[in-house]
Amino acid sequence: MATSFIDKARITVKAGNGGNGAVAFHREKYVAAGGPDGGDGGKGGSIILQVDDNMSTLMDFRYKRKYAANSGIDGQGSRKSGKDGQDLVIRVPRGTLVRDTETGEIIKDMSSGEPFVLCRGGRGGWGNMHFATPTRQIPRFAKAGLPGESHDVTLELKLLADVGLIGFPNVGKSTLLSVVSKAQPKIANYHFTTLYPNLGVVWVDDGVSFVMADIPGIIEGASEGAGLGHDFLRHIDRCRLLVHVVDVSGSEGRDPVADFDAINAELSQYSADLAKRPQIVAANKTDICESPENLERLRQHVESLGYSLLEISAAAHQGTRELVQKVAQQLSTLPPVTVYEPEYVPRPAVVDTTAPLDIQRSDDGTWLVEGPWLQRLMGNVNFSDYESRMYFDKTLRESGLFRQLEDLGIQDGDTVSMYDFEFEYQR
Ligand code: GDP
Ligand code: MG
Repeated sequence: MATSFIDKARITVKAGNGGNGAVAFHREKYVAAGGPDGGDGGKGGSIILQVDDNMSTLMDFRYKRKYAANSGIDGQGSRKSGKDGQDLVIRVPRGTLVRDTETGEIIKDMSSGEPFVLCRGGRGGWGNMHFATPTRQIPRFAKAGLPGESHDVTLELKLLADVGLIGFPNVGKSTLLSVVSKAQPKIANYHFTTLYPNLGVVWVDDGVSFVMADIPGIIEGASEGAGLGHDFLRHIDRCRLLVHVVDVSGSEGRDPVADFDAINAELSQYSADLAKRPQIVAANKTDICESPENLERLRQHVESLGYSLLEISAAAHQGTRELVQKVAQQLSTLPPVTVYEPEYVPRPAVVDTTAPLDIQRSDDGTWLVEGPWLQRLMGNVNFSDYESRMYFDKTLRESGLFRQLEDLGIQDGDTVSMYDFEFEYQR
């Protein structure tokens, strides 16, 4: 059975570039030399991630893998700024982990409702209207916009649920979820394997509630990649508690003890951590139980392992209220659902600084420095951050730019202008 459930996707995102500043001069009849009035370029649109609770899979990312926000518009004369590029909002299901594709590091766990800026749009370049000073009356230059950030990221869905239902196919997991919550998972009397995890909110009382997930059946060999189970085990990674549903009816000739052990063996093969997660055993289908000995054997087996067992009949709504209360009570003693901390530290762009930069001298003596690697570097530098500024300074120094400027005759106090950044040269 092919799975059409998509819970992992690799996408490339690119924020918009900043628009260029304009070089323009005010022209009016009878005014000999108008002032500079070139407007600024607009800011590029950012890439923003936002949780959408109507989404339960990453299917939308299967065919569309490239996302780009619009660039800012160039500035114009008459001090007209270019329009900012619109932000691009990408919606993801709650619980999506965003990783750096190259290193696998977590950039963000999208489990809260807060929007997250994944890539910042490029800053717009300044128009020449900013560059008129008493000594520089005819600035014939403006600044180019800076490139927007881009990133290769991998999205991975890790459901945000308190409780995960585990057990063989057909034991009644979906039925149980539909009985205790408003979720309407598909229920079928054959070894049908749920293709989508279903989430349901279970209301206990007095405003106490928890989220329960019906994950696709774990079948034998799943942890070695056989069948569907493997892909789905990671969905219960975050669950605080597992409800292990076992069919004790004997109606299919199954041995509940063997079933229980087989599922736990799968769990521990996939992750030792998951195997240690607290479990409550729900012995289901007691309404048609053909062999009470089976039930008793299972009870003794699980209790000897330290788990507690509750008898239920999901279909007949028997024992389900007690199960829900037991779950809620145990949850109240457990730590909250894991939220993953970011591991990824934004690194300034690694640029090859060997390519020569374009150095020009404007009429008023300003040193104008531009070039592709410098533009890339500056698009990445956050000038309000000290570390980032130091890195920028170090990179410039090591590139040999200052030596080059000195060879060209730069003096202390001269203005150096690069994109949206100007500084006074000091040896
Ligand atoms: P899942 O594969 O574990 O999700 O199992 P389902 O919830 O789809 O149920 C499989 C079959 O078992 C369906 O025909 C259900 O109606 C039936 N079933 C589930 N719970 C009970 C129960 O408590 N008693 C009986 N007699 N049948 C049940
Ligand atoms: Mg099911």
